[in-house]
Amino acid sequence: MGNLRHMTIGTIYLVGAGPGDPDLLTLRAARLIEAARVIVHDGLVDPAILKLARPDARLVSVAKRRARHTMPQEEINELLVAEALAGHDVVRLKGGDPFVFGRGGEEMEAAQAAGVPVQVVPGISAANGAAAAAGLPLTHRDAASVVSFVAGQCKGLSEQDWSGLAGVGRTLVIYMGVKTAPQIAEKLMADGLAPDMPLAVIENACRENMRVLRAPLAALPDLVDRERVQSPALIVIGQVTAREDMALARMIEETVR
Ligand code: SAH
Repeated sequence: MGNLRHMTIGTIYLVGAGPGDPDLLTLRAARLIEAARVIVHDGLVDPAILKLARPDARLVSVAKRRARHTMPQEEINELLVAEALAGHDVVRLKGGDPFVFGRGGEEMEAAQAAGVPVQVVPGISAANGAAAAAGLPLTHRDAASVVSFVAGQCKGLSEQDWSGLAGVGRTLVIYMGVKTAPQIAEKLMADGLAPDMPLAVIENACRENMRVLRAPLAALPDLVDRERVQSPALIVIGQVTAREDMALARMIEETVR
């Protein structure tokens, strides 16, 4: 019997934890978290969500912290595979959706390469959560029929081709863009985007301390600086952010000021 047990390989579940509020977990995610004995999570996962775990669950943080050395992706992949090969089901919990800037693809491939079964549970990505919480439709028949998600982090930013992603009738959602806000504004204007194109910065979407800030594109660097915008935040660029019927967003803005 001991041998048979030893032969059993665990499953890796790549689970989206959504943007923060535990209410925004899928039922499947909540059930997996509640049942898990091993949870490997990153820094964006809200503590309120980790509270759903069993008291005897083993929680492993692979949080990315700016000042400290972070666990390299390679090591995270190895950790997940090692746990599964040792016979444990592993819940790999990620902020938002595992397949939107979550490196879920790399972890899935690592599992497959090691012959470990892997399942992906989608989550509400920050863009969807932020849009709902701010009353800001990503598409609208009067304002946008295209929406794009891009990563605004430093590495390779200048080489990325964003031309045509932002503009009239289009919504551009930038993840990880707080640090590089000045370069982002510059890049978009160099691509021909109007300096007065409206945008919204949504910080801590779906959390108690959410802020919705608005400015024209040219004022983005100043806004981020003056308001001391912190990660996690999204920059949403396009006419949907300036619609007169953004009543909900205005209400939220008033309460945070
Ligand atoms: N997989 C995640 C994204 C991870 S990348 C998802 O689908 O949402 C990390 C970036 O996501 C952050 O830098 C920020 O831009 C964005 N983000 C995540 N949670 C957020 C939140 N609650 N509010 C605003 N932005 C958030």
